[in-house]
Amino acid sequence: MSLIVQKFGGTSVGDAEKIMNVARIIADTHDQGHQVVTVVSAMGHSTDALVDLAKKITDNPTGREYDALLATGEMVSVALLSMALNSLGYKAVGLNGAQAGILTEDLFNRARILEIDTNGIKKALSEGNIIIVTGFQGINSLGEITTLGRGGSDTSAVALAAALEAERCDIYTDVRGVYSTDPRIVPEAVKMPRIAYIEMLELARVGAQVLHPRAVETARQGNVAVCVRSTFDLKDSGTMVLGIEAMDKDRRVAGIACDESQARLALTGVPDQPGIAAEVFGTLANHNISVDMIIQSLSESDVPGGKPTNDIAFTVSETDLHDAVTVLEQVKQKIGAKQVLVDTDIAKVSIVGAGMIDRPGIAADMFRALAEGKINIKMISTSEIKISCLVDKTAAKDAVRTIHGRFFADSGLSVTQATVNEKLGY
Ligand code: ADP
Ligand code: ASP
Ligand code: MG
Repeated sequence: MSLIVQKFGGTSVGDAEKIMNVARIIADTHDQGHQVVTVVSAMGHSTDALVDLAKKITDNPTGREYDALLATGEMVSVALLSMALNSLGYKAVGLNGAQAGILTEDLFNRARILEIDTNGIKKALSEGNIIIVTGFQGINSLGEITTLGRGGSDTSAVALAAALEAERCDIYTDVRGVYSTDPRIVPEAVKMPRIAYIEMLELARVGAQVLHPRAVETARQGNVAVCVRSTFDLKDSGTMVLGIEAMDKDRRVAGIACDESQARLALTGVPDQPGIAAEVFGTLANHNISVDMIIQSLSESDVPGGKPTNDIAFTVSETDLHDAVTVLEQVKQKIGAKQVLVDTDIAKVSIVGAGMIDRPGIAADMFRALAEGKINIKMISTSEIKISCLVDKTAAKDAVRTIHGRFFADSGLSVTQATVNEKLGY
């Protein structure tokens, strides 16, 4: 008997009717003779509502209490979904992160899963139960509730699939698979039947919300076959995320993504001497703040005849902004820099594709597309299979559209299909 892990996102369980619909999908899988472990997210946008509620109380809650609050969303959907299955006549057991044996780092807001003690789940499965597990949460070595970062239910599901050696991990969501870009921004986006872990990982890291980056990382490490598919169109086979054989080498660009949740910080008037960058970024790292794009540029001294200084600009996640500014103000004093500048009106638009290795001209094509769209580039960063440009937040969606137009103009998707996509809200 094979074991399938399934995960249903927030929109799939947005109300009671949708929860019943999901219960029927789970029941069907069970009726087909599979053992089923289902991971579920908080209903609809309820995690956002909890975040807003916390903000009304304080700007700076402790990580411990914040995670305890956010984790409640998933507990609601697990209880309701288990009840729904029971009401259909199935034996179902709901488990929270701790009950499911999901042990994480002693870090709040974005803890990594360290290991999963699967004994409890295996026992309940052997007794004929369907297991429903809260996504997005675990427990640390002190027995405190931790969360895995926004969108982290995907990671819970893939980690469970790896630990239980499941046949497959099905990620059910509100689109029919992984597209060349967010189909809500570009209705002509093309659905990919398959995508390689390495491309999906990079796409997820640069903002393609459809999968959590750590879920892809975990799938790659554990060689878990992941299928992204729609809760609302079960006939569509979705997108398989697999090993390197899923790579289309003729494809210059696999996908385009946009991240509107970054902020740009700049430290100006930095003394031009060895050790300064190490001081700035070392201190940020010590505070667990990840930095993304970095630019250092030389400027003339303000003082006539004075030594030139540097400006160091970089981006961080908006959630780290408060801490990053505090840390940077301290570093500014220590190294004698001039100013800390903050820009939150930015977005990062990226193209990803293993096919760009050894193929010149792709960056130029991306920049040309942005130029034609009259979109200014504020920063650029590249890696072997990715090019990212920072643009104004207001220009982000246009940037995605114009870049998609350049790389996928002859995607073969008919106008009719694009219109259907648009009507379905994909
Ligand atoms: P869930 O609640 O099921 O986890 P998410 O909202 O986290 O769903 O992720 C699905 C959304 O990801 C889609 O509705 C779509 O707008 C967005 N998305 C962004 N990039 C892509 C892409 N390349 N392919 C498919 N969906 C994408
Ligand atoms: N409910 C959490 C969130 O909204 C986790 C998830 O949905 O994956 O981020
Ligand atoms: Mg998600």
